[in-house]
Amino acid sequence: MDHNATTPLASDAAEAMRQWIVPGCPQNASSVHTEGRSARDAVEEAREAVAAALGGRAREIIFTSGATEANHLAIRGALTERSHVVTTAVEHPSILAASEQATHRTILPVDGAGRLSLDPLAEAITEQTGLVSIVWANNETGVLQDIDGIGRLCREHGVPLHLDAVQAFGRLPFRAHELPVDMLTVSGHKVYGPQGVGALWVRTGLSIAPQLTGGHQERGRRAGTENVAGIAGFGAACRRIPALIEDQGRIAALRDRLWRALSVLKGAERNGHAEHVLSNTLNVSFSDVEGEAMLMGLDLAGVSVSSGSACTAGSLEPSHVLVAMGVASQRARGAVRFSLGTENTEAQIDTVASHVVDVVQRMRRAA
Ligand code: PMP
Repeated sequence: MDHNATTPLASDAAEAMRQWIVPGCPQNASSVHTEGRSARDAVEEAREAVAAALGGRAREIIFTSGATEANHLAIRGALTERSHVVTTAVEHPSILAASEQATHRTILPVDGAGRLSLDPLAEAITEQTGLVSIVWANNETGVLQDIDGIGRLCREHGVPLHLDAVQAFGRLPFRAHELPVDMLTVSGHKVYGPQGVGALWVRTGLSIAPQLTGGHQERGRRAGTENVAGIAGFGAACRRIPALIEDQGRIAALRDRLWRALSVLKGAERNGHAEHVLSNTLNVSFSDVEGEAMLMGLDLAGVSVSSGSACTAGSLEPSHVLVAMGVASQRARGAVRFSLGTENTEAQIDTVASHVVDVVQRMRRAA
């Protein structure tokens, strides 16, 4: 139940990769000989599949080594003449780190439910603002931002909008072209594809400065020999996205079933907005229990969850996302994130709920 950290590799994705991971397989997609052209075909077919899944054109897709790189490319690449970036306090660490490089940065607060208000955003935008970058669905809480409202405002001010759509992709139905958005980041391993591959969708007409230079690959926007196996696996994973979207109703019912079972525990509080939230994510704080200790107790019972996010695992600091929402530090330390996926079943939910109740009660007795 830790799909926001990574999703298990789908068999179609594994199969697509396997074709390119065989001894003796030459695979430089820039080579003009027959082998090179067949690698090029695989990369371009995958590009079509990624574009179709997110609702963009193939030529608007830039393959990267993952969402972290795509986020850096979006932020650093867009801030050329105008040097001010606006983002939020609940972003993924890659956005916070990339935006730190900007000459000027505004980090907007969120409310207690984890949502951004439009007024402070309107006030933050200046003549110097070159980009607004927002995480569409938060990886820790699943909370969704009002992308239509945010996008409309950015359009009114003539400022491009970048979305970190890593957790939204494969869970929310959307067509990038129909959104008031200019760039969008996605990652292979959050949609049952491989790790180490992702993409940045850049709307036609927006020009961004490449950050990795020294090669003509990706139409000069990202130098480096393409990861053919990874890209082929990502493409295959993207062909399953319509089916993933269709499964979201069932997953939401599982998530609600889990919350019904956990909410009977004294001191269990849900973090984040209960309606504007991904169907698969449930973030709960248990009073008088440390999230990290819960995680280990549940792991012994065969249940995989995380406290906060995998990117900040091992850190003793409470989650910056929950702190930004005004969650008291002790409650933030007692937070556990359950993030469901397509292979989870009702029977698993019931088993997990009973293990959670058991672990919480044991820990409280021991305290
Ligand atoms: N943004 C969000 C919202 C994420 O959840 C993640 C993965 N934890 C990333 C970016 C980084 O993705 P990647 O692992 O592909 O670099």
